[in-house]
This record gives sequence, C-alpha cells and structure tokens, in this order.
Amino acid sequence: MRSLDRSVIKLCVVTAETGSLVRTLTDGDVRRALLGGATLDTPVAALPSKEPITFPEGTSSAELLQAMRSHSINAVVIVDSAGMPVDVVAKSALENLILLSPPHMGTAEVALVQQAFDENWVAPAGPHLARFEEDLKAVSSRSHALALSSGSAGLHLALRVLGVGAEDSVYVSDLTFIASLQPILYEGATPVLIDAEPTGWNMSPAALGRRLEMDAARGRLPAAIIVVHLYGQSADMDAIVALAETYGVPIIEDAAESLGATYRNRPSGSHGLLSVYSFNGNKIITTSGGGALVSDRGDLIEMARNLSQQGRDNAEHYQHSQIAYNYRMSNILAGIGIAQLGHLPDRVASRRAVFARYEEGFRDVPGIRFQGDVAGGHGTRWLTVIDLDPDRIARHPYQFMRRLRSHGIETRPAWKPMHMQPLCHGMDFVPHAPDMAVSSGLFLRSLCLPSGSSLSMSDQDRIIEAVRQIVAEE
Ligand SMILES: *Cc1c(COP(=O)(O)O)cnc(C)c1O
Repeated sequence: MRSLDRSVIKLCVVTAETGSLVRTLTDGDVRRALLGGATLDTPVAALPSKEPITFPEGTSSAELLQAMRSHSINAVVIVDSAGMPVDVVAKSALENLILLSPPHMGTAEVALVQQAFDENWVAPAGPHLARFEEDLKAVSSRSHALALSSGSAGLHLALRVLGVGAEDSVYVSDLTFIASLQPILYEGATPVLIDAEPTGWNMSPAALGRRLEMDAARGRLPAAIIVVHLYGQSADMDAIVALAETYGVPIIEDAAESLGATYRNRPSGSHGLLSVYSFNGNKIITTSGGGALVSDRGDLIEMARNLSQQGRDNAEHYQHSQIAYNYRMSNILAGIGIAQLGHLPDRVASRRAVFARYEEGFRDVPGIRFQGDVAGGHGTRWLTVIDLDPDRIARHPYQFMRRLRSHGIETRPAWKPMHMQPLCHGMDFVPHAPDMAVSSGLFLRSLCLPSGSSLSMSDQDRIIEAVRQIVAEE
C-alpha cells in the first residue's frame, strides 16, 4: 500500500527473481483481500490472484485504451517477446494523445473560409488566391509565386519548366521524403542521390562537388539539383550555390520543411532558381493540403501557371499543345493559407522553443545528439530529431517508438534515405566521402519527436521523462 501510495500509476507489478511477471496488484485488490479476511501482513503470494492483463510492446495506444475501458482498469502491463514485463501504461496518459506535428489552426482561418463561401469564390481562382500569392512573395522575398495543390506538384512543375526530360539526370538529396524524388521519375529522368553531411544532415557539398567534377569531365552534367532543407534546417547554400554556379546547373530548393527559416538573413527558399513550399497537414503551416512554387523568374512561374491549369494555348477555344496538369490550389484553401501565413513567425518561435526544451531536457543524457544548424542558418526546427548513439544507449530507436506509442506519444523514424528505397534500386548514390556514407547511419539511429507548435509544456515534460526512462534501462 505504501508503494501504491507513492507511485503515479496505481498498479504494482509483482515479479519473480528472474524478472518474469507473477501478478499485478491494485489498491482495490488489497481492499478486497482485507474484506476477505487478510491482514496488511499477509504475504502477497497468499492473496487471491487472477491472470494479469498484458500487452506486447508496440501495441497501439488506441487498442490499450479500448482494453482498459472494457475491463474497467486504469493501467496495463506491457511485456516483451519473452513475456517479461517492461512497462506499465496508465489510462490517463492515453486519454491525451501527443501527436508528432498536428495542424495548429487559429481563428482567422474559419472567417476567411466563410468569406470564400459568402462570395461564392469556391473554385481554384479568386481573391484569396491572389492575396495568398502576394503574401507568399513577401515571405519568400521572391518577385513571383504560384499557389498549388501540393508541394509535390511544385517540384514537378519546376522540373517541367526547366525542360527536364528522359535523357537528363537530376541530383537530389538522398536523406529526404520520397516526394523530393518522385517528380524526377514522372519525367523519366535519372535521379542521382547525393548523401548528407554529418553535422547538418543536408546535402553534402563534398559529395556534390565530387560528382559534378566527374559528370563535367564526361560531359554529362545534370539538368538540375534538388536541394532539400531537412526538418526546417537550411542546407549549406553558400557551398552548394557556388558549386552549381561553377558548373552552370540550376538549383531547385525543396523548402517544403523550411518555410520560415532563414539563411544568411534571407528566407529559406530564396537562394535557388526555383523553390517549393508545402502546406501539407504536418508542415509548419497548412492549408490542409497545398504547396507553392516561387522564383524571381517571372517567365518560369508563368509557364508553370499555365502547366498547372491544363496548359491551355492562347486561343478563344480550348486548344492544347502540351502535356499539362490540374495542379491549382482552391480559393477556399488559399483563405486558410493567408491566415496561417500570418501566424508563421509565432509558429517558428514555438517550434524552436520546443527544440530548446528538448535540448535542455536531454543535456545530461550521454548519447543523445541533435541535428546541427549550418553556419548562417536559422532553422525552424520543424521537427526535433534525436540521434541515439548505439554505443551509449542500449535501445534501438524503434524500441523507443513502440514504447512511446503505448504511452500515447507519437514518434517516427527519420526519413529512410532514397538509396535504401526499393523504388531506387540500382540508382547512383554519391556518399559524403568515398569511404563513408552518412544518411544510412542517421536513419538507423534517429527518431523524430513530437514537435508541434501547440505542444504544451506538461506534455513535453511527459515525453522527456518517458525518453529518459527508456534510456536509463539496460
Ligand atoms: C512534405 C514534403 C514534400 C511534399 O509536399 P506535399 O505538399 O506533401 O506534396 C516534399 N519534400 C519534402 C522534403 C517534404 O517534407
């Protein structure tokens, strides 16, 4: 009873000397035993017992919650594959799920959506779209912007307006989400996967330089370089832009994750020829789904605009001379985008504060490392990702992920590098150094933590505490 009194979760787990589970005990069990004639000195082994309810590691929080509700219990024991108890999960924790990066809406969003309805501008055209594109120019310091149905559409159009075709190769960051690469395949071009560098986890200038030199020597320079700003942190653009200019190769920035970041005091997405943002539901701001293409080249953006609406020729009838798409954003969603962009500085500050609290919370934990910010970079910390040193931390990132899931805390592995994807089998991969690949190691060691701009301090404390507890296990 004293143990139960002291603990947060009111469940005692009784184990044998081998560590195997014998039974569980709640204060209700003790009370019933006392009513049945036992005393406080009766050994636990002599109390009536029933088969404890256990669940395997990795059981989803929804399943656990449902089980606890149907059995009217407040906590369950988690066991490993050998049946050994490894954790106790409380119902109260699961009633408050912590998501990785949920949308964070304000109040102005609904008003602007309502306005679109009131004025019957519900098509992919209208005043919200025009205004959203103006706001996008301002936030990206670009003279032209095109709002689209997704970031993927933006990347695809960027390749199309550069004339990338089946005979071309396109370099792309290896450590990224698959959307960075797919549009290259839409055009039948050949991706070349450029490894990450170990500090900032973005495209390695060393690998890029080696490959450009080699391809220049054999007269096969790529048609474009797609540079990703991973998890909201800018790539080393000074080095990458210098290389691209030396060889005359255009840069497409995949800034899907880095809206609101800066590099050398200019917005992330203002350094390449064309840049792409995403407003997907998990990004720093969202229109539920959406994206944008920005550039200082008005001719390219106008070409992309035409391609985004079925490529209609300049004629009074419906006349078409090229393959094109239906990629426009709806005026309703642009209304959400206007309001969301207004919150951007706040959202960046919140995500950076979340990152700072994780840094503080794990400062004394040997073996936890974070993604670095490149010199001149001021990232958004869209996601905080921890890199777990396997020499100092016994558990694998997936063990963390499964255990945290049972506690109602959503985490995710880092992006699986492109060169490890079945889709990319046989593609050229250029490692950071001739004898050292970086992206695969980061993938195997890393875990994305809940990083939403609406994450409360107490929820974050819960995450930090849970991670620290798993680290402490041998
Ligand atoms: C989200 C994302 C995209 C794609 O954006 P969508 O709007 O979902 O199509 C592209 N690249 C990266 C790196 C992303 O994280």
